Amino acid sequence: MLALPIDSVLPELHRALESARAVVLEAPPGAGKTTRVPWAVCEWLGGEREVLVSEPRRLAARMAAHRVASERASKLGERVGYCVRFEEVAGPHTRVRYATEGIVLRRLLSDPELARVGAVVLDEFHERHVTTDLLLVLLNDLSKKRKDLKLIVMSATLDAEPVARFLDDCPRVRSEGRLFPVNVEFLSKADDRPLEKQVVSAVRSALTQDPDGDVLVFLPGAGEIKRAQTALEPLAAEHGLLVLPLHGDLPIAEQARAIEPAGRRKVVLSTNVAESSVTVDGVTTVVDSGLARVAGHSPWSGLPRLSLEPISRASATQRAGRAGRTRAGRVLRLYTKGDFESRAEHDLPELARSDLAEAFLQLHGAGIERPEAIDFLSAPPAASVTSAAELLVLLGAVQGGKLSEIGRRMLDFPLPPRLARMLVEGERRGVGKEAALCAALLSEREIVLAERTSFGERRKPGFGFSGPSDVLERVERYHEAEDARFENHRLRNFGLDARAVDAVRRSHSQLARLVRSSAESPGSLDAVDIALQRALLTGFSDRLARRKRRASRELTLATGGAAELSEQSVVTEAEFVLAIDVEERLGTRQGGARVRLCSAVEPDWLLESCAERVAVTDELEWNDEAARVERIERLAFGSVVLEETRSKAPPSEAASALLLTKASNAGLFDFAKNERLATLHARLALLERELPETGLKGADSGALEQALAAACQGATSFAELRELDPTQALLGSLSGNELALLEREVPERLRLPGGRSVDVHYERDKPPWVESRLQDFFGMRDGPKLCRGRTPLTLHLLAPNQRAVQVTSDLAGFWQRHYPSIRRELMRRYPRHAWPEDGATAKPPEPRPPRR
Ligand code: ADP
Ligand code: MG
Repeated sequence: MLALPIDSVLPELHRALESARAVVLEAPPGAGKTTRVPWAVCEWLGGEREVLVSEPRRLAARMAAHRVASERASKLGERVGYCVRFEEVAGPHTRVRYATEGIVLRRLLSDPELARVGAVVLDEFHERHVTTDLLLVLLNDLSKKRKDLKLIVMSATLDAEPVARFLDDCPRVRSEGRLFPVNVEFLSKADDRPLEKQVVSAVRSALTQDPDGDVLVFLPGAGEIKRAQTALEPLAAEHGLLVLPLHGDLPIAEQARAIEPAGRRKVVLSTNVAESSVTVDGVTTVVDSGLARVAGHSPWSGLPRLSLEPISRASATQRAGRAGRTRAGRVLRLYTKGDFESRAEHDLPELARSDLAEAFLQLHGAGIERPEAIDFLSAPPAASVTSAAELLVLLGAVQGGKLSEIGRRMLDFPLPPRLARMLVEGERRGVGKEAALCAALLSEREIVLAERTSFGERRKPGFGFSGPSDVLERVERYHEAEDARFENHRLRNFGLDARAVDAVRRSHSQLARLVRSSAESPGSLDAVDIALQRALLTGFSDRLARRKRRASRELTLATGGAAELSEQSVVTEAEFVLAIDVEERLGTRQGGARVRLCSAVEPDWLLESCAERVAVTDELEWNDEAARVERIERLAFGSVVLEETRSKAPPSEAASALLLTKASNAGLFDFAKNERLATLHARLALLERELPETGLKGADSGALEQALAAACQGATSFAELRELDPTQALLGSLSGNELALLEREVPERLRLPGGRSVDVHYERDKPPWVESRLQDFFGMRDGPKLCRGRTPLTLHLLAPNQRAVQVTSDLAGFWQRHYPSIRRELMRRYPRHAWPEDGATAKPPEPRPPRR
């Protein structure tokens, strides 16, 4: 067997494990950790117990098991085996078992003591997936309880110090790798050609600069690999190169071909699996695109999501190191030095940026009651801790701090919590298998191709095709694919992505096997659809939204705020929908969220399934237009109003109070805005000033407020208040004596000697005045006076043409000094009127009958 750097530290590792329950092992990629350590540990353990190795990727688990089996000349599935999603190769004699970390976690949940396991190896710990961090917590606890269980944490780039501290200062073992110098080259300026063109240029440069040695190209994903492979064909033919893809979705034999030495010079096009999980020997040039597809969760729905992201500087260094394994090498970075320097130093642990609900559910499943209080290796953000804990309560998975029966059942499904909840509800409603398909469709990649073939156009959603749910629409399309026996060319004609459909198919069959069909199926197709829509509600009830107007794509979200419904959605009519999947369009000009997939709900379902979250309010509200208090009875779910009725409010204290506020604000009893009120006010003010001995107080706004409040009793609208003249309300607050005084001393009207009655005008801060024809004052020696004779009235004396000939408060003086000359003028202009010589004694003319 080939000697590897790790061999020399195995004795040290052995000693460390004898004295401690845990050890941290650091060694660069290719040193032999993955392939040598688990086997060695197994031999030291002896006996029947197995070594369980947790790998962050399926590819690493399968490749490692294959490699170890062949090194030890053992049949795969005998002493060495592996277990990944959809695939298990192991048997009763398997003692070294490589598994993906998700599988290890599930095993730990179903068998919390790990009874048959002697040691657990956490490989590639530096990748720090949420599950990796979760396993560290759980296994640390378990190894404290089970003294015979050993824990080995291995990593290529890890800063081991904090991990060792976390494991109660456990021993650390290091192996230096053999690394030759690597020459790093950047682009001098950013290249905006398609990635595959850049790859071709870089590979050509590698071929001319280096006479032999293989090339390893890091690309973000299978799509980019495929395109680069095609673009490299001419160059490969010219130079007799072997171009080999390497990623997780390939058959094991093809993966092996990429890694094993070949007779010819090769170019390996790989995702970041080759960064540290697998070692490709013979590489002397690395081409680094600087990009990776990072698995995560949509912050909106907790659904799995891949996003294309620039890698960190640590990752780039790791990739570069792959060129210096056998001799001095070279790395061509397809980005500039400035770009490199602007990048994050390390990748954030997934815990720091991901949805934690699934992890918390699993912790509950492991018997930990307060996952939010757990000390992880690095603390996740407080906000995501809170929202994860809240979501589990909302889904009914956790009740009173404990895992509920629903929560326990949810754990049986390898799904994010919302989808697991939906599936549990689907089971209860007798549509488990169909719900499993919905879950598969929502957890895997979108099956509908973004660009449709012309044949696919006929089903292009949103153009004449309409339905209650985008999820049901996908179900239908999946069934079409099934009817077409999943034949690739027919899928393409349907506008479906064959690889995505295949992923859904595998996921569906796995989930469907886990479904119990205890409840009776609802029967008709429509009833099944309704049951599925209602199952979706249990997983996404907080994502309720309401269409702002009929046929509009604008939505109001129950969580507050607005979103836009995608034009691709088939849900063109439903008023209430669940926003199942959303693209956040941060940084774009439109901004806000765009709902990609939604599903209709009936308000009644909300009342039945989440009654406790429907708020019933019965409120009084002022209607400005109708100028009245109205009663609004409302059913609301967060910011979404489910139902609303408005009616005229019945009289009540609260209604009167609201009416009073509105009436005062509107100035309904405002001296300045109401003439009759102003007059009354001026009369009272005059009385108060001129006859202080009566003790009568002028009206102030306090008195008016009181009068208004009294008027508002039993009323709900301005109309009712206007019926009640405010002056009447104010007069009503005076005593009989006061009223009599008011009538007598500051009357509204006054009779003149000739029998004519005139209005007395009262204005604030002005003497009261009357206006009438000069002749009407004939026979009066002195002008009329108010307030027990103390207040002379100002008289406006009019000529027959209604123009004032004099304004005076001294009638006697007028007769004496001015009348004689005015009389001559009047006689000349109005000869038919009588103008007696002495006004003070003259007889006034008969009042003219009122004009009709
Ligand atoms: P580590 O886990 O420390 O990165 P591995 O145990 O994966 O290292 O690999 C150790 C060495 O074994 C690698 O450098 C490589 O040379 C060789 N090796 C591992 N797997 C294979 C394989 N499938 N085919 C050929 N060589 C392999
Ligand atoms: Mg390894």
